[in-house]
Amino acid sequence: MIDGLIVRAYIADKNAFIDGWIRKSKGKYFFEPSSKKLQPEVYASPGFIDMHTHFFDGFGLFGTNADEIGYKTGTCMLAESGTVGEYTIDGFRKYIAPTIRTNFTLFLCISPIGVIYHHEYNAMEYLSVEKTVKCVRENHDLISGIKVRIGSEVIRHEGIEPLKIAAEAARELSLPKQVHIGGNPPYITEIEPYMYRGDIITHCFNARGGDMWESDGTPAPATQAMLRRGVIFDVGHGGGSFSFDVAEKAIKNGSLPKMTIGSDLHKQSRKKYCIDLPTLLTKMYGIGLPLEDILYGITKLPAKILRLNGWCDMDRELKNITFFKVIDQSDTYIDCENSSRIFHKAIKPIGVILKGKYIAV
Ligand SMILES: [Zn+2]
Repeated sequence: MIDGLIVRAYIADKNAFIDGWIRKSKGKYFFEPSSKKLQPEVYASPGFIDMHTHFFDGFGLFGTNADEIGYKTGTCMLAESGTVGEYTIDGFRKYIAPTIRTNFTLFLCISPIGVIYHHEYNAMEYLSVEKTVKCVRENHDLISGIKVRIGSEVIRHEGIEPLKIAAEAARELSLPKQVHIGGNPPYITEIEPYMYRGDIITHCFNARGGDMWESDGTPAPATQAMLRRGVIFDVGHGGGSFSFDVAEKAIKNGSLPKMTIGSDLHKQSRKKYCIDLPTLLTKMYGIGLPLEDILYGITKLPAKILRLNGWCDMDRELKNITFFKVIDQSDTYIDCENSSRIFHKAIKPIGVILKGKYIAV
């Protein structure tokens, strides 16, 4: 039981910690701050939000089980990154949505078939601004944004046309779009003009393209333009999109704003490279990102993008909370380039309050 548990609570508005206790009253959980330092072993954070996942379970190359990458590993909210499209959302709603216990939302793929394999834009004639807008309006309870993948591993003859269509649909809906970047072409200089304030660039530390950052980790001019405009960067580790070298240099350079730490967990990246969100958080901690900034990237910032009002409030009933420890544990971690690092601390979730109920994990 967690009634009376001493915790160090993350207060997202202050990007700082306050010690106190978890109290249970009439079946509800609350946080009671203490004016004294208590030396807690357990942290209590607003429920972790993973901004980049694929949980259209059983569908295509990527779809995996939501709860296994969700509450069972300490994540209270998942954003689905485009596995679901206009032609498949009815199936998702009917067969998958009712099976999911973790909170979730979707970024709808701009290709109506969704991301089923690597080249979802083979038949460009099926992409349509009007149909996308109509689909989102009819499914607004499930959808928070639009997803488009732009990178040489996806794009062949289509160029940046899918991005233009996604940008127009997202603008008409006043929703953010999540844009996958990777190998060149397309280049970041072509993508940048279509990135608006509040949009998300995912895979920001990939080593496929290499045109986001200069060799010393300084943001390239197009990257700087996006940062000035208020474009949000997401890690999106996945199975091929995270390089320690790129991330370390960009973080050391110090010109990065706070970013979301989406995992890009899917059927493949769960087996190797990414594994789960806590493993990614451990890597980010290991390469020097402060714990407060890690938590900001999986609570406050994604909650703002997803318009989850009150998600980070610790001064009312606790509905979605992640409890975790930072333990002493030495392990070797690899990135998607098979380069390795040894870290001596690990972030380990021990339980969640999910929709008001405590579950040990
Ligand atoms: Zn992805």
